Amino acid sequence: MKKIGLFLLLALPAGFAARADEVEFQKGEERTSIQSVRQGEIGYLLLNDLASALGGQTSFDPESQRATLTIGSHTLEITVFSPFVVLDKVTHNLSFPPIFNQGTFWLPAVTSAPVLEKMCGGRLFYSENDKVLRLEEASSNILDVYVSRKQNGTLLEIVTAEGMQAETYLSSPWLNVTIFGGRLVPSDFDGRKFPPLVAEVRAYQFDNSAQLAFRLSRPIGNYRQTLATDPFRVQVALEDTSQAADPFIPPPPPQKPKKPALAAVIKKIVVDAGHGGEDFGAIGKKKTREKDICLDIALKLKRILEEDGRFEVIMTRQIDTFIPLADRTKIANDAGADLFVSIHANANRKRHIAGVTTYFLDVARNDESRALAVAENASIRFEQEEEEDFEAMDDLSFILLDMVQNEHQKESEELSKLIQRELADSLRIPDRGVDQAGFFVLNRAYMPAVLVETAFISNPNEEKLLRKKEFQEKIARGVYLGILAFKGKVERQTP
Ligand SMILES: [Zn+2]
Repeated sequence: MKKIGLFLLLALPAGFAARADEVEFQKGEERTSIQSVRQGEIGYLLLNDLASALGGQTSFDPESQRATLTIGSHTLEITVFSPFVVLDKVTHNLSFPPIFNQGTFWLPAVTSAPVLEKMCGGRLFYSENDKVLRLEEASSNILDVYVSRKQNGTLLEIVTAEGMQAETYLSSPWLNVTIFGGRLVPSDFDGRKFPPLVAEVRAYQFDNSAQLAFRLSRPIGNYRQTLATDPFRVQVALEDTSQAADPFIPPPPPQKPKKPALAAVIKKIVVDAGHGGEDFGAIGKKKTREKDICLDIALKLKRILEEDGRFEVIMTRQIDTFIPLADRTKIANDAGADLFVSIHANANRKRHIAGVTTYFLDVARNDESRALAVAENASIRFEQEEEEDFEAMDDLSFILLDMVQNEHQKESEELSKLIQRELADSLRIPDRGVDQAGFFVLNRAYMPAVLVETAFISNPNEEKLLRKKEFQEKIARGVYLGILAFKGKVERQTP
């Protein structure tokens, strides 16, 4: 222990305020140690040690400032100062940028573990309290997936080793099946396809459940989940809508939405709870996870809007599940929603920074690599100007836009002002005003869209508030009142 402390003392420059430590890596009988440091509340693990523990290799390209971790056939790309990493071409958000110090990389432990797990064909457990990283042989109880066509639809079957409870949730185009107590090896399922209906499968392992997500290539009618035995399986029967049922009709080409006229009546509201599943969002000092707070507030907003009786609410997620960012605005566009409201909590390294901000959409780009580039730039900028809110920047820069200005920028700005006014009045935390940002939303949102950074989860006082039901309720009510004010304005303007 002493030795490692000394080593770090030598290796780390004075400005690098971190506490040195180590984490025990366990795999079967094998024990090795991984150097770790803590910066603030966050524990980081040394990438090179992780690589040797997990049987992989690292390389570093000084020109692009990028490190690569290879384990078996999987490749993880890590960029200096960016919380976004790319695993086998899929982008994941670690919530915190890696520490880069004199050619060495340190990854945030809690949020990296689920990503690393996808690379090592087993289950990876990280315990911050015990200082243990444990790789277990996958003893999967989720064995296989079958998809078969039936007369009036399609049957998905998930074969399990034992009888298990499950929950199915459609968040078009993703059909998510959560299996409680489920254990799986994601790489056994990731990327599988079952044409014509299932374009892609993705698998996620959570603490107490596993999730299989099926990306459907066309809308479906009703679905029904049942449990069957001999062998044990979870069945989900999908009813094909009549014309879509013919597998030989190709999916319609993506349509140029005609919209941009603003709806005369504001009725359908998409409420987007930020982050979810493997994407934790920011994490507070008391370990409050942004994804949980976002969901709590979003569900309260849904309830309030529904109680009003004049709104139809569409949630991008209602449980702790991962919804790719790109799908969130697609959900809104497909539903022909009138407004899109995304709920988040802010974060800043300076813990005293506090308050509420509402953002509206600005300019757009359209490919993921550019999105990533912008996110990286944002992170680098953050390193230089610490006053910036990195959480907001990550959220904003990652939701993709088109090249064009959002046609509803004016309305979005109006809506953000009205929401911000209500929140500033009722929350009694600093009013940081409205702002615009280069939001990235893969599919342009064809409706006024705002993102509310409700309060700072990184500020101890506001973290405490965010955990309180009454405060969450106040936020939800403030957003609702802002929506009402906007609705009134729009509907007065249209004859
Ligand atoms: Zn967020």
